[in-house]
Order: sequence, then structure tokens, then C-alpha cells
Amino acid sequence: MKESLSIPRYEHFINGQKYKPMSASYLQVNNPATGEAVAAVAEGSPEDVDAAVAAARQAFNDPAWRDMPATQRSQLLYSVANQIAAHAGELAQLEVLASGGTINRVLSLDLPAIIDLFMVLAEAVKSFPFVESLPARPLPEPCNTQVRREPIGVCGLITAWNVPLLLFAFKVAPALATGNTVVIKPSEMTPTSTLRLAEILADVLPPGVLNVVNGLGPVVGEAICSHADIDKISFTGSTKVGKHIQVVAAETMKRVTVELGGKGPGIVLADADIELVAHGALYGVFLNAGQLCESGTRLIVHESIHDRLVDRLVSLSEKVVLGDPMHPETGMGPMSTASHGEKVMEYIGSACREGATIQCGGQRIAIAGCECGFFVAPTILTGVTNDMRVAREEVFGPVLSVIKFQSEEEAIAIANDTDYGLSAGIWTTDVVHAQHLARQLRAGSVWINDWHMMRSDAPFGGFKQSGYGRELGGSMHNYTETKTVSTAFQRDPFKKSLFRLLHTKMR
Ligand code: NAD
Repeated sequence: MKESLSIPRYEHFINGQKYKPMSASYLQVNNPATGEAVAAVAEGSPEDVDAAVAAARQAFNDPAWRDMPATQRSQLLYSVANQIAAHAGELAQLEVLASGGTINRVLSLDLPAIIDLFMVLAEAVKSFPFVESLPARPLPEPCNTQVRREPIGVCGLITAWNVPLLLFAFKVAPALATGNTVVIKPSEMTPTSTLRLAEILADVLPPGVLNVVNGLGPVVGEAICSHADIDKISFTGSTKVGKHIQVVAAETMKRVTVELGGKGPGIVLADADIELVAHGALYGVFLNAGQLCESGTRLIVHESIHDRLVDRLVSLSEKVVLGDPMHPETGMGPMSTASHGEKVMEYIGSACREGATIQCGGQRIAIAGCECGFFVAPTILTGVTNDMRVAREEVFGPVLSVIKFQSEEEAIAIANDTDYGLSAGIWTTDVVHAQHLARQLRAGSVWINDWHMMRSDAPFGGFKQSGYGRELGGSMHNYTETKTVSTAFQRDPFKKSLFRLLHTKMR
């Protein structure tokens, strides 16, 4: 890497301290809005992963961590939340500089959600069923049986580039709440906020509990997924890589959770409030410039309101402010990289070649002061059919595909005709009927008259090729092994009827 002298340098974070990479080499992190280098970050190797896993294993083996009473763990999670709140401004800046998400969103949505999640789990941990006693059963003899939920062990966490702090919280919060230790690998494109947060949390977490190894997916990610001393993998990223890591992790039978891509359908019924849909559908698809897994990318609209809704979608799209994500009035920032921007443009081109019409956008926009950023204008395509590439593949850009329908059965069929199943939505004034339709949608989250309605206490995750396992609500269960401990009380072996099945001649 050609490293600028003026940019900050980040090491790995292992066993409570900064840790220089064995490779002695550093990867450059660039600001997607300006193309400028913002950090040099340690380039990890399998040996660095070994060091992090050893630290995590040692921390896990310490009963003071693993068997910490729930009330004390609750206090610790509150302390984590407080530390994040105290450093929110600094973390938000790092997040924006590396990811291109807007400062407004990161400060007003992401950080409050992260703090809330740690606080919700700080409460939940106090009543989590770490130990449950089953009722006594009389036959063949009375015994006591407990179901215990124990931490799985060392967890390898791998996150995507788009919302790194949120993804950190989705995985680290339930892992720590249940007594695991972690080795996290953030995306090589956006590692700085994760590395800084690990440093900040060293004030409240014992050494080795939270370790960060930065580096390339095929090197560090692969080493994590194949490591013999890692017990669980939680991965967020593309469906392609998600399929691969399951194969690698299967060799050592790790527990695996995968949160992958999406192709969210929003069904707009004839009775929907056009003004609400127009604002909400654009929020659903253009937030983070469309670079969110749960984005509502296919709007399936009843033919009777199609033209009126498209007019309103277009007029509102033209008012979205593109610009430097650091500016508080910016609504939409850049694509993650120029090559990703080119890919988004190619999807728009392919849609046109297949017969779709661009109603607005469809081009790259130059932004003063951000000439090296790749900004794509909010794009609305009509005349899309569900067999087009733009309707089938994850574009991960600000592109809304509008698809017309006539009957509700047709709308549901189009919505479900996808490999993905992360999010789906219904826009209607008949919220009772919407419940009936929600039952028919094959997706992990269904939002009625809104989008991105994620909350700390509600499960989030995918059907079909959007993954499995759930984050947020109930996610602590994904970080525990269940152990059944049964105790017999009959001490006279001659009174134990089942022993007689073997000892048939002994009296
Ligand atoms: P990606 O799959 O390219 O990378 C994700 C992570 O995997 C990165 O840290 C990367 O370094 C690592 N990786 C790459 N190759 C690897 C390998 N061989 N072994 C182990 N790790 C490897 O995804 P991305 O471009 O960073 O993120 C965008 C994708 O993430 C989109 O598909 C989006 O839908 C998805 N995503 C899903 C959710 C969700 O909750 N379902 C949330 C955010 C993003």
C-alpha cells in the first residue's frame, strides 16, 4: 500500500491492547465521498487471528467472565452503552468518513439504536433463562432436571462495510450478554469505527473478551471460519460469501448465523395513501443511497394508482439532497466505491435494455468538493417486470423498480418470486386486511405502512437465501448452547427399576 504520512494508523486490537500485524503491512481506508485516504489499518494474517483467538479463549476460560452473575453482566452492558454514548460524536465521524453514510443518519438513527440495543440486553440478561428447572416427573423415579443455557465459547464475527457500528452491536451485544468472547473482523473498507470502539470499551471489558483483527476477507475472514478453536461464526455480508463461509465452517461444525442480501418487495394496494407511500417508499429504498440489505427495492403497485404514485415519487426524488455525507443537510451520500457505482449504473442500463423506462435519475451526479466520489441520482424505473435482472439481483444502490399488478394474488406471487426473504412491506389503509397479507409474505420482517421498522427487542433476519438465525430480539439464544442436567435421588440401586433391564439376575 502507498501510505500517506498524515493519516492515522490503526493496529489490530488483541487482548486489551493495540497489536501490530505480523505482516507489518497496512491497508488504506478511503473516504467514498472524496476518494481521500482517511486511515491506514493493520493488514491481518492467519497468525494474527491465532493470537486473537488465543486471547479470546483465555478470557473465556476465566470463570470471572464466563460465570459472571447476571446482575453484574447487566451493569457491564449498561457501562458499554454509556461509553458508546460518551463517544458518539467521534464514532459517528469515523463511520461517515469510511462508509459514506450521512452524519445525520448515523447520529440520529444508528447510534441511538446501538445504545438502545445494549440497554435492552442489559435488562433482558437479568431475566434470561440461563437456568430453568423442569417440573418433576414421577416415572420411572423422581429426579430433578435443569435446562441450562451456557455461552458457546469464542465467537468469530464478520461484518459488512455498509453499517459497521450497527453490525458490531447486533453481534457483540448478544455475544457478551451471554458470556462469550469474540474475535471480530470488520470489512476492510470500513474498519476504523470498530477498531476505535474496541479501544474505548477496553475501559469496561476484561482483556481478551473483545478482539479485532482487520484484514481481507479471503485471508482473515477465511482464517476465522476455519479456525479450530472458534466455536461460532456470525456473518453479515453478501449471499455469495455467506454460502462459502458455511462450507468452510462446516469442517469444524461451528454454529453459524448468516445475515445476507435482500430484494425487499413493497406492495401498494389500491386504497393506499399516496402521499404516505411516496415518502415512505423512497425512505425505504434511498436511505444510505440504497446500500442496505433490507431496502425496499421493488415497489409492486396496483394499476389504478400507478401513474399518480409514480408522479409523486418522481417529484419527491428530485428533492433528495445529494452531497458530502458530513454535511447535516445531506440526505444521500455516495456509492461505496467507484467500481460499485459502475455496477449500479450497469444494472440501470440492463433494465433499460430489457424494456424498463427511467422516470428520473439514471445518471451519475457531480458534487462540488466531492469530485472523486461516485454519486448516483435517485433513480425510479417503471415498466419493470419481475424477471428482469434489476428485479432479481441485489443492486445495492438508489434504484427503485416499480412493477404494476392487477390482483392481490398476483402481487403476493411477484413479492415472493425471489431468492431472497429479508424484508417486505404492505401499504394500505386497511390494516386489518394487511395482517392477512403479511401472513402470505415469505420474509423475516414485514412492515405495514412504513419501512426499516427494526427494534432492539424484535427478531431480525432472513427467510430463504437472505440467511438464517435472528439478530436483535431473541438473539441471545443464538449465542448459547443448551445443556440438560438431570439429578437422580434414589440411592438404593435395587430400587431403580431401569437398572434391572441390565442386572436381570441380581436381587
Ligand atoms: P461481502 O460479502 O463482500 O463482505 C462481508 C464481509 O465478509 C467482509 O468483512 C469481508 O471482508 C468478508 N469476507 C469476504 N470474503 C470472505 C471469505 N472468503 N471468508 C470470510 N469472510 C469473507 O459483503 P459487503 O460488500 O461487505 O456487504 C454488502 C452485503 O452485505 C450486501 O449483500 C448486503 O445485503 C449484506 N448485508 C446484510 C445485512 C443483513 O443483516 N442481512 C446487513 C448489512 C449488509
